[in-house]
Amino acid sequence: MTESNNGVLVVVEMLDSQPIDLGLEMLGLARRLADSSGGTVTAVAFGTGLETTGELLSAYGADQVLINDHEIFANFHAEAWLPDLSKIVVEVAPALVLIGHSLSGTDLAPRLAYRLDVDVATGCESIDIVNGRPHMTRSCFGGLAREVVTFNKTPAVATIRSKTQEPLTQMMERVGEVQQVNSILDVNSIRTRVIKREREKADGVKLESAKIVIGGGLGLGGPEGFDTLNEIAALVDGAVGASRAACDLDWCPRSYQIGLTGRTVAPELYLAVGISGASHHMAGCGNSKTIVSINSDPDAAIFKSSSFGIVGNSQEIMPALVEEIRKLKA
Ligand SMILES: Cc1cc2nc3c(=O)[nH]c(=O)nc-3n(C[C@H](O)[C@H](O)[C@H](O)COP(=O)(O)OP(=O)(O)OC[C@H]3O[C@@H](n4cnc5c(N)ncnc54)[C@H](O)[C@@H]3O)c2cc1C
Repeated sequence: MTESNNGVLVVVEMLDSQPIDLGLEMLGLARRLADSSGGTVTAVAFGTGLETTGELLSAYGADQVLINDHEIFANFHAEAWLPDLSKIVVEVAPALVLIGHSLSGTDLAPRLAYRLDVDVATGCESIDIVNGRPHMTRSCFGGLAREVVTFNKTPAVATIRSKTQEPLTQMMERVGEVQQVNSILDVNSIRTRVIKREREKADGVKLESAKIVIGGGLGLGGPEGFDTLNEIAALVDGAVGASRAACDLDWCPRSYQIGLTGRTVAPELYLAVGISGASHHMAGCGNSKTIVSINSDPDAAIFKSSSFGIVGNSQEIMPALVEEIRKLKA
């Protein structure tokens, strides 16, 4: 592989021809890292309908944008993406490749690293350059501790958790170089076929973007508890999340899961209802500005992370809360 420069390459995931928030957050991080080490930022986007993506990603900090616009890339498929992405990384030779810690990103990153025989660090929350080397901070031991890891060689791949980085302010006057990728993909080399793809129902505000998130756990007592959470979410323009235990019991969709193996949220307000506060759960919501929790156990671990706590039965408190919010709104 060509010797790496100081650049940072960001794989920006697209949804309906628009970059997802995490892609823009990673561009902000890449810009800060590149500025501190004198490198450049390259953004790569795979998808369809990407006519304006180059300008948009430049406006969010990319010096160079590589666009792979083809029907075959309309949906994520690691096997389809890897040949072109590997070639791009070899040609651009960045020090660091940033990929979102999303479902697609956590599939793509280790495959890319394996193919290029480079190192990979997943689930990173911050990256600092120390003596010219990237130092990645991430949760370990189920969210109970943090570790700082570095790479022995470059390039290297890191996946970044959502809501851990600030995107730059969009500046359309920031102009980068936009290039189309000449795909080398041989469709016959794809060994797996996606038979069905179902988009999760997303009414209201997206979990990661919501300013108010109401999380429910086993203390809700059953799936009907989520009806009340949804009612509150609709009243306050918030979104509903859940503990893994509640998702495991099918009380709510799996996509609600917040935590180490679920989604990461950092809202202004996280209202945790009947959630014990296991480190695995807190890894996904611990950066919320204010945490308010409702739990019947005064010794529940969640209270240690909460700004405000209510000790009591959620089945009595939640209807009263809905009532109060309704009154305030009226
Ligand atoms: C590798 C690994 C990864 C994991 N990843 C995740 C993850 O991503 N997200 C996640 O959430 N978990 C994850 N877990 C599971 C995690 O460790 C906990 O088991 C889970 O978060 C517990 O969910 P809970 O708080 O809803 O349930 P519990 O721990 O059973 O807590 C229920 C709480 O409700 C309270 N309660 C009971 N009745 C009432 C009532 N009537 N009113 C009010 N409060 C009441 C109880 O006091 C208790 O505190 C993971 C575990 C492992 C091993």
